[in-house]
Amino acid sequence: MAPPSNDYLLAIHEAGHATAALALGYLSKGLSLGQDRGTSLDSLSRTRYDPTEAKYWVLLKHEVLILLAGEFAMRLLNESLGDDFGDDFDAYGSQMDRSKIGYLIEEIYAAEGGSALVIENSFERDVIALLKDRMPHVQLLARELQLKRQLSGNEIELLLANMKKERTSAA
Ligand SMILES: [Zn+2]
Repeated sequence: MAPPSNDYLLAIHEAGHATAALALGYLSKGLSLGQDRGTSLDSLSRTRYDPTEAKYWVLLKHEVLILLAGEFAMRLLNESLGDDFGDDFDAYGSQMDRSKIGYLIEEIYAAEGGSALVIENSFERDVIALLKDRMPHVQLLARELQLKRQLSGNEIELLLANMKKERTSAA
């Protein structure tokens, strides 16, 4: 079986971000796909809160999950294909996402203690749980993004209208 095209993988990465955001209750502000990079904008607004507020930490943790979802959408796709198209998960923006995640995890670690590695592992488990049953939605979104190169928040919401949302305190 031929490995998926780079363009499709890039679309899967961006669709992973948007699907995780919507599953957690945040409206997407849109997705776009260029030649070798894409963008995903969500409506998370942690900076409106102060670290003394619980809401700040809920938003920060959701931000980590949404950032991880690009890379993990590609990993889960790879797994579902039972096909190893390489371990090049650093590409498609994942490396940039990981460096942002690093800062956020440091912030959690500084506030809560524990081990940065344990924190990171627990986020990885959570993002897999979040995306696993939603891969058909990720793939639907990725195919549509590949065709149109750009999707508005409304279009994303319509495409994922029948996707189950998590019960979270976010809104
Ligand atoms: Zn990304």
